[in-house]
Amino acid sequence: KLTSREFHPQNTVVDVEGMKIGDGNFITMAGPCSVEGLEQIRQTAQIAKMGGAQILRGGAFKPRTSPYAFQGLEEEGLKYLRQAADEFGMKVITEVMDETHIDLVAQYSDILQVGARNMQNFKLLTAVGKTGKPVGLKRGISGTINEWLNAAEYVAVSGKSPVIFIERGIRTFEDATRNTFDLSAVPLIKKLSHFPIIVDPSHGTGVWDLVPPMARAGVAAGADGMIVEIHPDPENAWSDGQQSLNEKNYRQMMKEIQVLSSAM
Ligand code: PEP
Ligand code: MN
Repeated sequence: KLTSREFHPQNTVVDVEGMKIGDGNFITMAGPCSVEGLEQIRQTAQIAKMGGAQILRGGAFKPRTSPYAFQGLEEEGLKYLRQAADEFGMKVITEVMDETHIDLVAQYSDILQVGARNMQNFKLLTAVGKTGKPVGLKRGISGTINEWLNAAEYVAVSGKSPVIFIERGIRTFEDATRNTFDLSAVPLIKKLSHFPIIVDPSHGTGVWDLVPPMARAGVAAGADGMIVEIHPDPENAWSDGQQSLNEKNYRQMMKEIQVLSSAM
């Protein structure tokens, strides 16, 4: 298989418009769950950048459990996200939910994120694979490692897009956390595939004060980076405020991450 370590023994380093993922440096993608407006995303980008993140995250097309919940600012959100990232010299990752939006999202984003709910949307995987843009592939809510690897294979076989695996927790019987964050996926994916893997301790735990320890654990497990939700005012965030770090807690986490990752 194209994604397998057997097929390609060396690590694949993913090039994101000149920025490398999987070259041994721990990369941070930070930003709000949802883009809420230009000022909110600019403020968040500044916080993200000052703390040391290289890539700005933010949802403009949001896969919400309820159809009555905020669904994202769509193209307006993409524009704000790009503008804020450019202002602070950052790359962009954002989710593409639908095949018909790929061209639009690709105009604004450096990495195409496929969300957990779409891990087995095979048409979407095939279509994003054809763009040549790096694909951030979240693990499905109940996705096994084998299903996840096969999803990545759909991306790889359809074209030239490299894959970045994103461990974001899986559903188990445990309900004290939003998901069960499966850290063993990090060394396991590294053993089975040559593509990089990053962790998402925000969706992995769903609780902001569990995020920094699990981010540190991600570094220790050998992840190539993390994607983390931050917000200037988490209590008033339009989505996922309970798992978003404020500036102070984000800064503290990033200091710890830098110490740990330079020791690895
Ligand atoms: C997100 O990154 O905001 C998101 C919706 O993630 P997931 O697809 O992992 O639930
Ligand atoms: Mn979110």
